[in-house]
Amino acid sequence: DDPSEAALGASGLTRTFGGFVAVDRVDIAVREGELRSIIGPNGAGKTTLFNILTNALSPSAGEVYYDGTEITDVPQHERPHMGLVRSFQSNQLFEEQTTLENVRIVAQTIEQGSFSFDLFRRGQRVAEETAYEILDRVGLAPLAEEEATNLSHGDQRRLSIAMALATDPSVLLLDEPTSGMGPTETEETAAMIESIQSEFDLTLLLIEHDMSIVLSMSDRITVLNRGEVLATGTPDEIQENAQVQDAYLGG
Ligand code: ADP
Repeated sequence: DDPSEAALGASGLTRTFGGFVAVDRVDIAVREGELRSIIGPNGAGKTTLFNILTNALSPSAGEVYYDGTEITDVPQHERPHMGLVRSFQSNQLFEEQTTLENVRIVAQTIEQGSFSFDLFRRGQRVAEETAYEILDRVGLAPLAEEEATNLSHGDQRRLSIAMALATDPSVLLLDEPTSGMGPTETEETAAMIESIQSEFDLTLLLIEHDMSIVLSMSDRITVLNRGEVLATGTPDEIQENAQVQDAYLGG
């Protein structure tokens, strides 16, 4: 696959910190509609790669492509408007606001380029409808009126996905969506992610440490090791890859 033609791609992507190479000439091409997981041991460069793809960090070298266009220098805050979105972090909730309000604020902000009173009022209504619909899809509708701060850890993670969906993404990056969850909640969240992918027509790029859901959900998996792509392939190909077994799966 050609990164420059991908839904989300990168070629030769590199990031150094001082003399240390955290991301090392990474090529990646995520196809439209794909669910791609990034795996690799701690320190492999997964988070740094996400940071470069969203331009939270600029690359030291290489190019980033979105929907067939080079976007390496497009500022971070402009990317959601293009449809390239990273899920919100748990510390990016409006804690005193309700679950619904959190999603509505994002939906309204992304819809409205400029302020006028009438536009704002109409936007508020439309955004509220959108927000309800999204909460329903992620399973949080029963908690719509609850203050975000009162939600369980798992529900706050789901809320952060709901907020990302409110920006109407085409390509969504999820950073450890199941972290801190027990086995049942992890399975539920995996099922929810698969269902939103088809309902919202998403291309998904996922950092995930739970190998059983990585193997069951992913179309393809990219294995990072010491900043480099060790392998990219289907779950079967990755499981059978001897290099991956040595470096990561522990034989
Ligand atoms: P992963 O997400 O796979 O655990 P990271 O991308 O967080 O890996 O980190 C990759 C490497 O880059 C680690 O060795 C980490 O210490 C280093 N690193 C990440 N961010 C910085 C930074 N801002 N300054 C210096 N080193 C960093």
